[in-house]
Amino acid sequence: MLTVSNYHYIREHFNFEYPSIFGVTPKCFENQLLKLKNLGDFITPLDLINNINSVLTSKNNYYLITFDDGLKEQFEYALPILDAHNISAIYFLNSINFKERRVSTVHKIHLLRSIIPPSAFYKKIQNFYKVRFTNQEKETAISIYRFDDSSSAELKYLLNFKIPFSKQETIINNIFTEYFNEQNVLNDLYMNEDNIKYLASIGCLGSHTHSHFPLGLLDEASMLNELKQSKLYFESLTNSKIESVAYPYGSKEACTDLVFKQAKTANYKIGFTTTPGTNKDTDKNLALMRFDCNDLPGGKNFRS
Ligand SMILES: [Zn+2]
Repeated sequence: MLTVSNYHYIREHFNFEYPSIFGVTPKCFENQLLKLKNLGDFITPLDLINNINSVLTSKNNYYLITFDDGLKEQFEYALPILDAHNISAIYFLNSINFKERRVSTVHKIHLLRSIIPPSAFYKKIQNFYKVRFTNQEKETAISIYRFDDSSSAELKYLLNFKIPFSKQETIINNIFTEYFNEQNVLNDLYMNEDNIKYLASIGCLGSHTHSHFPLGLLDEASMLNELKQSKLYFESLTNSKIESVAYPYGSKEACTDLVFKQAKTANYKIGFTTTPGTNKDTDKNLALMRFDCNDLPGGKNFRS
């Protein structure tokens, strides 16, 4: 069986005026690796791809480490720790950050939320896209985001449920350019081409699609394009084969059966969602489940 632990931000500090960027410190990351090492065996991406069926049906507990979003800190902080413990991981990157030199909308939102109070951010969005919340919706927002204060909950609900994804890009970009220089953020936030080539050379590069859009909301042709474009871009950049994909957001709405079918058409061999669970079924190679690292032993939400 296969258990996958997924990571995003890995940095020393998460001190922002308004918390919106969450992750683990290098120390916590290393401690979790040591915990998992006691529970099973880490598998390399290449061994997994080449022996997927025997890994899934094995009684042995195999663990795989994955990283989403191509963040530079994953290369700078996590990779040396993994090397020290002789563990390899898959790094899933979006090609839009490199091919088009654009910051993903999801990261623009994280950065904006870290410096703008939620109520002010909410108002700014309303300048571009007017929506009214019913009292029922306000209650729903607060219950979904019960760990947030009410204005953060309403902001998240606005972004995640009220504004269509296709509209978000333009709205967020307008606000983002008021506060940030996109090229500076690109250079600071994401890996560079040398990093990417290195990861490919050790068999650790995967695709997170082209533009970090929830694939399940796209029409069939755009879905396939998202999957193919990033594969082709990274394959030609690194002169290697890209055979694994992690679907952005990874939720049920983002990962429909049609998405898995298109991933197969695009010639991926393994694909990862963010549905939590341990993988044992051999017919779901393109719909593998992953845990958020916080939910596994050594993670902050783990309860044994
Ligand atoms: Zn992502």
